[in-house]
Amino acid sequence: MLEELKQQVFKANLDLVKQGLVIFTWGNVSAIDRESGRVVIKPSGVSYDDMKVEDMVVIDLDGNVLEGELNPSSDTPTHLELYKAFPNIKGIVHTHSTYATAFAQAGCAIPNIGTTHADYFYKDIPCTRAMVASEMDEYEKETGTVIIEAFKDINPDHTPGVLVKNHGPFSWGTSADNAVYNAKVMEQCAKMAYISLTLNPETKMNPLLVEKHYMRKHGPNAYYGQKGQQH
Ligand code: 13P
Repeated sequence: MLEELKQQVFKANLDLVKQGLVIFTWGNVSAIDRESGRVVIKPSGVSYDDMKVEDMVVIDLDGNVLEGELNPSSDTPTHLELYKAFPNIKGIVHTHSTYATAFAQAGCAIPNIGTTHADYFYKDIPCTRAMVASEMDEYEKETGTVIIEAFKDINPDHTPGVLVKNHGPFSWGTSADNAVYNAKVMEQCAKMAYISLTLNPETKMNPLLVEKHYMRKHGPNAYYGQKGQQH
């Protein structure tokens, strides 16, 4: 079932290692087939060195396992909440990449203070609120809830990532591959923001530059790159 999507999700998980975004068993990637509402996700706790394409787990949006011998990622309920709340996304990535996770641990959003950030993320990358005791029973599902809450006034299609407080980054996109790309961009932006703020804690960017850079790539009159290319 969904053999091509399994290949894509398997490759995207290995790409996290290639991009230096994960070590050991940290992180996970999933993708959804919107037509059937089925999700393919990495198995939990399997090292990237040992992982095989047939280890990918197929589940429905209620979390029922439809195919696969192994337990799905422990973060599966978070992924499912996001697929349900953000109808245009088709791939999700979670990592513990160093700089993005450092911002998450500190409870700080990644501020939009450079054109690199504005080329991909329209707003600051928000950090979720602290979770409370009543959210511990269904911790992974509630992690999805606090992310959705953080996007109350933010369009997730224009700002494809978030920091979960004390945990780490989640990103998403139009495919598993695109979500990995956004995870890498987020990590680089977090690293650059950290250095910029160390050099000058007052670093800011003129909103006109944000507008120009985001819109020239993603706006209705985008002119960056070549026709048909995704950015
Ligand atoms: P899984 O191996 O269960 O996906 O967990 C990895 C992780 O990063 C948990 O936050």
